[in-house]
Amino acid sequence: MERTYIMTKPDAYNRGLIGEVITRIENKGYKITNMKMMNLDEAILTEHYAHLADKPFFKDIVEYMTSGPVVGMIVEGENVVAGMRNIMGPTDGLEAPAGTIRGDYANNKSENIVHGSDSVENAEIEIKRFFG
Ligand code: UDP
Ligand code: MG
Repeated sequence: MERTYIMTKPDAYNRGLIGEVITRIENKGYKITNMKMMNLDEAILTEHYAHLADKPFFKDIVEYMTSGPVVGMIVEGENVVAGMRNIMGPTDGLEAPAGTIRGDYANNKSENIVHGSDSVENAEIEIKRFFG
């Protein structure tokens, strides 16, 4: 069965939206097979967001992602990588359609509630990164 790495971000924790994200994952028909709350540090974020590490706003991402705990999850289901990206919506909460997690709960491009792997290959790398 395909799996993906989903992670609620610190804004979800601070706004009390972790349960909402979990409910949407389960309502879609996916199974959460592992879950843990963590406090991330700059080293793991530099690895996880390596594609953005040279951007001027990278320090803001680190500040945001270390402002509270995250909840990492392994989520399983048919075509779950693409399916989760669909129910999350695009990166920018302003552009994300209503009905998606980001469309309903985020209003900008940085603080957007949830992370989801963007390919089956990256999902396995990210699961290994956060669950060993
Ligand atoms: N991000 C940001 N500004 C940008 C692009 C990305 O703050 O211009 C943050 C945002 O939190 C995003 C994360 O970096 O979710 C990872 O970016 P990516 O392009 O991988 O988007 P995602 O896969 O999360 O939709
Ligand atoms: Mg990404």
